[in-house]
Amino acid sequence: MENDLLRWFRETLPSHKQLVLGAGDDAAIIQISEGKQLVATTDMLMDGVDFRVGEHDPAQIGHKALAVNLSDLAAMAARPVAALVSLCLPRRGGEELAKQLYTGLTELASYFNCAIAGGDTNSWEGPLVISVTVLGEVQAGREWRRSGARIGDQILVTGSFGGSILGKHLTFYPWNVEALWLAEHLEVHAAIDVSDGLSLDLSRLAEASGLGAAIELERVPIHPLAEFLAAQKSDGVTPLEHALSDGEDFELILAVDPSHANGFFELHPEWRRCLTPIGHFVESKGLWSVSESDLKPLVPRGYEHRLDP
Ligand SMILES: [Mg+2]
Repeated sequence: MENDLLRWFRETLPSHKQLVLGAGDDAAIIQISEGKQLVATTDMLMDGVDFRVGEHDPAQIGHKALAVNLSDLAAMAARPVAALVSLCLPRRGGEELAKQLYTGLTELASYFNCAIAGGDTNSWEGPLVISVTVLGEVQAGREWRRSGARIGDQILVTGSFGGSILGKHLTFYPWNVEALWLAEHLEVHAAIDVSDGLSLDLSRLAEASGLGAAIELERVPIHPLAEFLAAQKSDGVTPLEHALSDGEDFELILAVDPSHANGFFELHPEWRRCLTPIGHFVESKGLWSVSESDLKPLVPRGYEHRLDP
């Protein structure tokens, strides 16, 4: 399984004095000079898994390839600086495809004032593969990590969840601008972006913090696309189940002291529209659903890359 391989990487990769935070969070942190940290993350997208060439607009595929990376920087409260783009193009029609990918990519890059610093372009007989690496910066010690949540912290989420496969996964704008603003105005103890599913990524944040997470299910913001998807399919999966387990929402989960959260919402009531409290962190490890202080175990579900032996 993907998780086992990731654990092997974390345990095997050597430490380095300039490596403040290595594999295992949304992005890595590298000390570059006194007070400044470089934040680096990379994501590889493949035709047939993350998008479908011939079905999806290539400009949107390019947009997505950069957006998923920027979302990891948002989850660390890091400012995007530059991106490196590596393409493995199908030999037939590859040049035209590359140009179309870049229209979506450069538009998003300029929206977030992120330079496209270079990359690599190859061609082969296989399908399109795009690997984007983004570099960002954060003041030393001011980054958000997965590991800082405290018992009793509120679980705050941006936006709403589920049904992303119906189109949002190709067109979303990551929360970079908001994350940088929040980092200045709200004391965030821990954060993660939701790439693989709300319940799965929340359980990852809780695990990294050595805690459990209790969700008040009726508070989970459900995206209209999740309602639509549930109505469209006859598999019995409810909109709430889609919201908890569908991948690629690219919303943020934040851990915030409840009294700070209350003070923040009093000062900035407009944020109630895009930040929703959905539960809190508890001492008992694992994922829980909570109603009237009663905890019931909840199985984290989401997308995991499958590896066969
Ligand atoms: Mg992430």
